[in-house]
Amino acid sequence: MSLGRFAPSPTGVLHLGNLRTALASWLSARAVGGCWLIRMEDVDGPRCRRDLGEAQLRDLGALGLDSDEPLLWQSERGDRYRAVLETLHQAGHLYPCACSRKDLQALASAPHLEDGLRPYPGRCRGQGWEGFDRALRLRLPEGPVTWADLVLGSQHDDPATLTGDPLLFRRDGCFAYHLAVVVDDGDQGVTEVVRGGDLRAVTATQIRLQEALGLPRPAYAHLGMVVGPDGSRLGKRAGALGVAALAARGVGTAEVLGWLGWSLGCLAEPQPCQAAELVVAFRWDRVPAGELRVPLDWV
Ligand code: GLU
Repeated sequence: MSLGRFAPSPTGVLHLGNLRTALASWLSARAVGGCWLIRMEDVDGPRCRRDLGEAQLRDLGALGLDSDEPLLWQSERGDRYRAVLETLHQAGHLYPCACSRKDLQALASAPHLEDGLRPYPGRCRGQGWEGFDRALRLRLPEGPVTWADLVLGSQHDDPATLTGDPLLFRRDGCFAYHLAVVVDDGDQGVTEVVRGGDLRAVTATQIRLQEALGLPRPAYAHLGMVVGPDGSRLGKRAGALGVAALAARGVGTAEVLGWLGWSLGCLAEPQPCQAAELVVAFRWDRVPAGELRVPLDWV
């Protein structure tokens, strides 16, 4: 049984990029009669807020993206994540890291990588185990990872040059995104991960963590980014409008769905529709890989 998911972080309003990801994953599941779920990725401390998550759920509901499973909040899964860390530790996959943020900045700089993604060079790899009051990293095995991306085609990455050994547990007691996302996809039985292309660079690392945990590998689809009318990254200033702000500008959910459906190759022209009407036309080989600009009058 195919199971897709949308896993937003409840740190703000879902913008057109997020909504496009949600719609694509929902359509892909529905097109093969599969199931779909929503998961709130709220492990990232105080930036995550319940009320923002609830507003995101309302927006997904307004678009008709219905979930088949109970909603999962990652902040309630601490016991499970800790048990998984214990398992990884027993199998020798973890080491404690004493590097401060300042150390990390000084250790590695990789100007070719966007968004300040710096590979961790493994400085603390030789550290002995000191328990769960330290930051913990996964010791990556050497070598590249390949996967067949549903949008991008065949992919080949060496996680050592992208993330290096990923942080799984922070010294402040927070579980890291890589740990939570891989454990939950595994526990929930997710077979297809659809997300924004900005996360392509961490996929090889997450595949390594799946392997360390003996989890099956889901299919991956990394969508082209939705950018502002001038090609800039969607942000608070330009193009990051959500369902409510678009409605206030006279752009209703049917119009948003029509535009998103067209952008995913389901419609020849953007024309108002319902999500369910797009299902029959959805196919991954029709989804273009490139960037997508928000219409000028939508910002
Ligand atoms: N929670 C992540 C985000 O909102 C997405 C994680 C994923 O889809 O793997 O950026």
